[in-house]
Amino acid sequence: MPLNELQNEQYKNPELHKEHKVERKIRTDTAPSLQREDEEIEIKLRPARFEQYIGQNKVKENMQIFIEAAKRRKEPLDHVLLYGQPGLGKTTLSQIIAAEMDGNLRITAGPTIERAGDMAAILNDLNEGDFLFIDEIHRLNRTIEEILYPAMEDFSLDIIIGKGPTAKSIRLELPRFTLIGATTRVGLLTAPLRDRFGVIHHLEPYSIEELQTIVIRSASVMQVEITIRGAEEIARRARGTPRIANRLLKRVRDFAQVQFDGTITEEVAQSALDRMEIDKVGLDTVDKKILEAIIFKFDGGPVGLDTLASSIDEESGTLEDMSEPYLLQLGFIQRTPRGRIVTRHGYEHLGLDIPNDGQMGQIGLKG
Ligand code: ADP
Repeated sequence: MPLNELQNEQYKNPELHKEHKVERKIRTDTAPSLQREDEEIEIKLRPARFEQYIGQNKVKENMQIFIEAAKRRKEPLDHVLLYGQPGLGKTTLSQIIAAEMDGNLRITAGPTIERAGDMAAILNDLNEGDFLFIDEIHRLNRTIEEILYPAMEDFSLDIIIGKGPTAKSIRLELPRFTLIGATTRVGLLTAPLRDRFGVIHHLEPYSIEELQTIVIRSASVMQVEITIRGAEEIARRARGTPRIANRLLKRVRDFAQVQFDGTITEEVAQSALDRMEIDKVGLDTVDKKILEAIIFKFDGGPVGLDTLASSIDEESGTLEDMSEPYLLQLGFIQRTPRGRIVTRHGYEHLGLDIPNDGQMGQIGLKG
């Protein structure tokens, strides 16, 4: 496609120029006005520099070295792939990386790039030293992905002009840029794409101490008083995820202000989180529905993800991304080749008797 057509393509699709905000599934029934307020706070809470980015120490240290080295060589940073569950800080880290390199960050997401022309237009619009963040990069289709290969490797864009036997391929030079890909499902990335990233980092769930630090920092940004124990209580129920910790903090603050004197103490946090039906280890009503459905509707499992999802009226993707990783991490469910089963710990957590039909024995759990 000639350059002017590419530019037309961009013109036709102004969305490509806008900062793409990936829609997050939030499981609370938050009113629209609260959501708007939340979004404003969200921007303030997002760490802007490495010093404010809590935890993920190994990733941070390595990234700081790679950034320093690239700066000294006056070269762009190598392409970076970040993977891990939603809300662990992939977007935040990308923004910090771009800021530390003094580069502009363009944000887009796999599902919004529908045609090869969209991808070509985005690449063609980059400037030297820019960062292109593609969230959910595993959802790019193959033809679009293939445009990325020469772009990542040689900073060039191969374009076919015309059709049939007279079609000609021309190569456009691109400015040197850095691609940052983020994904919750690294296993779905094709090998050729994965291999083109020079830096690959896995973001792990955060410890309770790290989440406690995040909650204390966020409370100070929001100008809410909180005790160390109050912050710990929120951290314990935040499923290892900063986004959830911040969301719980905002709702606990509402309870603290309306029903108490405004300060978030351990008792205030406990009472608010109990009312929100977030239990002591952070399970919410959806997680409990999952466990109960496997136990009561499918005799403890195994049950396939799609069947399970439709039995509780949820989308299987939501279960896989939002609920399952934490239930697996806690050891409350297990994945078997035939589907999901509830483990001994799962039964114990719900205060249920463990069935004694030999099935549990095969699961081979500790404890
Ligand atoms: P992801 O892109 O992995 O889904 P985000 O980068 O959007 O996650 O992070 C969600 C929110 O959690 C951010 O807005 C930020 O406020 C907070 N957050 C994430 N990681 C950290 C961190 N390491 N330290 C402090 N806050 C964090």
